Amino acid sequence: MNRLVSVSRAENIFPIYKDTPIGRMLKYHNLALPFESYSKAELLIGMCMDNRKYLNIPDNFAFIIRTGGANLRHSEFKVSYAIAVGGVSAIALIGHTQCGMVNLVLRKEQFVRGLMDRAGWQRDLAEEHFHHFAPMFEIGNEIDFVLNETSSIEISQDSSCSNAISC
Ligand SMILES: [Zn+2]
Repeated sequence: MNRLVSVSRAENIFPIYKDTPIGRMLKYHNLALPFESYSKAELLIGMCMDNRKYLNIPDNFAFIIRTGGANLRHSEFKVSYAIAVGGVSAIALIGHTQCGMVNLVLRKEQFVRGLMDRAGWQRDLAEEHFHHFAPMFEIGNEIDFVLNETSSIEISQDSSCSNAISC
């Protein structure tokens, strides 16, 4: 079963997202909607720190937390800040293909070697660093991770305002 929906036309945006920050984000990023001007953020976006990814959205439209694999598990305070102080009313988690946070163990030697070569780390400390943090940041599968995370994020007890998209 294909769990992704391509958004290449406005009709592809699910009706529940029409005239919402999520719908506007999809129109800006996917459909090149001309930018409106914003004085405050409408949306919090969680997306990967991957250098290959960027968003086409207006200034001031969204808070963006970039982490490995769009993993917000260790960003609770920043999420709360965007809601409480920033005033956002929706959260979008954006996953992507070929994410480096999938199957981290395959990159262990590259990780350790890179810290040794570029940062002067001792091998045993670099390996310990990897083993300590890799389980926290491993996302397993990009689609499963984003879907699972959106079901665990809620802005209020009354309604779930979390939303999942993939680009
Ligand atoms: Zn990634």
